[in-house]
Order: sequence, then structure tokens, then C-alpha cells
Amino acid sequence: MDGLLDDLYREIILDHNRNPRNYGVLNEGNIIEIESFNPLCGDKIIIYLKSVENTIEDVRFTGEGCSISQASASIMTDLMIGKKVNEADDLLDKFHLYMTDLNISTPDGKLGDIDAFQGVKKFPARIKCAVLAWDSLDKAMKKLNS
Ligand code: ZN
Repeated sequence: MDGLLDDLYREIILDHNRNPRNYGVLNEGNIIEIESFNPLCGDKIIIYLKSVENTIEDVRFTGEGCSISQASASIMTDLMIGKKVNEADDLLDKFHLYMTDLNISTPDGKLGDIDAFQGVKKFPARIKCAVLAWDSLDKAMKKLNS
């Protein structure tokens, strides 16, 4: 990904990649586990979701792959812990809109560090890397309601 990203954005992504937040496994209580792959790049993410009374009590992830996929999982988990399920749904929608609409250059303020992915949006093959963890959370949350 050298040369793809502005320096500022690259720093945020590298920081999350070097020091991933919420990296690890959850196995106590009622945990939903979703494993996802991005064959285009070889990224793998496993999401562990623990929700209690419509609140995301904890989200962790493990996996391997490019720095964009791992940093995105780190940023996503940081953002989602403590959110109500309906707030998390709303954030997922805002994230997808931001990642897929090139005309949106500034993400919704609630999305935190996600503007680090602005440079990624110009490279469709890498968008899959950035959305992998978010799609996994989406799948996990759908299981909550089923
Ligand atoms: Zn990737």
C-alpha cells in the first residue's frame, strides 16, 4: 500500500496495525463469532460479539492480513464497544455510505478515526480490506435478532 495513502492517514492506520485495540478472543457468556475472508487480498478477520440487553458490551477480533484490514477492525471495535445495537446499526450504515460514495470526503463525526480510510476509497480493490471487519459485525448483529 506504499504510496496509496497520505502520510497522516497512513500514520493512523499503521498505529492501529501495530497496536491493535481489542485484539483477542471472547469466550465467556453468549458470544457470536463470525469469520470472514477477503480472497482478493488474503485478509482474514474473526469477530467476537458480546451483547447484553441491546448493548454491545464487548467486541474483539483476531485475524491476519494487510494493515488496512487489521487497522479497520481495530478502529471498528474501538468505536462499537458500549454502543446500543441500534446506534451500531446506524454507524454501520454511515460507514458504508462513506466508503462507497466518493463525493463524501468527510465522514460523519461519530465515526472517529475512520477518515483514515479516505485514501483507500480511490482503490476499489482495497475497499474490501477496509469493510471486512464491519461486514463481519453486521453479520454478527443480524444473528442477534434471528
Ligand atoms: Zn487487505
